[in-house]
Amino acid sequence: MADILNTAFYIFHCKRITLPHYGNAAMQKLTFAPMNMDSSTRQQRVVIIGGGAAGFFCAVNAARLNPNLKVILLEKTSKLLSKVRVSGGGRCNVTHACFEVSNLVKKYPRGDRFLKKSFHLFNTNHCIEWFVQRGVTLKTEVDGRMFSITDTSQTIIDCLLKEANHYKVEVMMNREVKSIEQRAGVINDSFDGEGNAGFDIQLLNGEVLIADYVTVACGGYPKTAMFNWLTRLGHTVQAPVPSLFTFNMPCNPITALMGVVAENARVKITGTKLEEQGPLLITHWGMSGPAILKLSAWGARVLAETNYHFTIVINWLGGQNEQALREEWPKLRLKHATQKIGNRNPFGLPARLWSYLLLQSEINEDIRWAELPAKQQNKLLANLTAQPFEVNGKTTFKEEFVTCGGISLNEVDGQTMQSKLVPNIFFAGEILDVDGVTGGFNFQHAWTSGWIAAQTIADKSMATTAIVA
Ligand SMILES: Cc1cc2nc3c(=O)[nH]c(=O)nc-3n(C[C@H](O)[C@H](O)[C@H](O)COP(=O)(O)OP(=O)(O)OC[C@H]3O[C@@H](n4cnc5c(N)ncnc54)[C@H](O)[C@@H]3O)c2cc1C
Repeated sequence: MADILNTAFYIFHCKRITLPHYGNAAMQKLTFAPMNMDSSTRQQRVVIIGGGAAGFFCAVNAARLNPNLKVILLEKTSKLLSKVRVSGGGRCNVTHACFEVSNLVKKYPRGDRFLKKSFHLFNTNHCIEWFVQRGVTLKTEVDGRMFSITDTSQTIIDCLLKEANHYKVEVMMNREVKSIEQRAGVINDSFDGEGNAGFDIQLLNGEVLIADYVTVACGGYPKTAMFNWLTRLGHTVQAPVPSLFTFNMPCNPITALMGVVAENARVKITGTKLEEQGPLLITHWGMSGPAILKLSAWGARVLAETNYHFTIVINWLGGQNEQALREEWPKLRLKHATQKIGNRNPFGLPARLWSYLLLQSEINEDIRWAELPAKQQNKLLANLTAQPFEVNGKTTFKEEFVTCGGISLNEVDGQTMQSKLVPNIFFAGEILDVDGVTGGFNFQHAWTSGWIAAQTIADKSMATTAIVA
């Protein structure tokens, strides 16, 4: 009976609405709402678009914080939380052990000022606590990445699905949203008394849902045109380009060293101020590892402009520059004078990399340190501290990739996640022009923005109910 009344309300209130998505089973979940209620006394509903980390976090928190709110989550595919499942090699790199907001924001090439406001409300500390309260303990690895102690992403998925079930979030799969339209309303007829009459959400399959609040949490899109259904709301988009990718160096002899890791390489992109230091992995197609991935994130836009043709310069010794090394060289020469240079690598570099650098410097590995000619010595000094490599193309980093670009941040309030252009529309996750470096920072942003949107929606919807009462 309750279901029939509630459905009747929606048909009554929104004449062109059809609700074929409410099959019998789904309808039974609907809460009773009297048929003669006006638009401000009926049960308010939020529709969340996207069944990823941000969408789920928004849904479960909104439903928990305001139990009177109807929460519907729409996912266009038949899979929920698919990136959570594959991330971190199937372990889900939930967040990063970075607990100061001032440090945390530095891990995001785009959005740091915006994020400062958000992270004060919900940061890594809150995230860890949130999962602990739900029985998920996180552990920290040596590089700072945080995972569930179970080492499987299924733990995170189970936790979010359990919350969704507990708080009666209605999850609808195979529902792709194609447009959001503001419903015309006048002050007295509006659901919130502020003239906002809610939204019609049109799905690709022809269904239309109405919602009082909408959270857009549909992840990053690789092409600008894919944002059209959102730009029609008046929002602008920073053009999407990939972030977190590895560098291709086709036919470069360094690729013969695939699998070798230089633990502390400093990598610069010529013609820019971009440089990063850290582990560098040589692959069969070029270079990867944290130093390269960080560069790809910070340089996402400028590298896209070069069409991924640029030069990098590598200092294999990290911080030590050529001049400092030149000054230290006589001591090294003396210390290892009688040893074959191929056998004595005083820099702790991997043996295969050392042999390669000697070869590139035209040095015979059997020569002794004391016999090294000045010309070859100079070449070795240069190759150790500033070896150039041409990059031709990029390869998606299979472990983690994100989109740089998305909804412009100056159109969204970082403390509420509400659109500054359209009241009661919220954004969360990668759809925003925010992206982090590798290591759990992208999920942290998804949790943070999802939580803040949920909190704001819960507050707004409860305040509306209070006014009515
Ligand atoms: C392989 C891989 C590994 C990663 N590993 C890590 C990691 O270890 N640590 C980390 O921090 N980050 C990682 N990331 C990045 C991280 O997964 C994302 O930043 C994060 O998932 C973003 O969450 P989201 O909810 O905003 O978007 P998504 O997870 O992309 O979810 C968006 C959802 O919305 C749905 N959708 C899109 N359009 C519509 C529509 N019109 N209607 C309905 N539904 C729609 C999509 O199908 C999708 O399910 C990884 C990414 C990848 C690809």
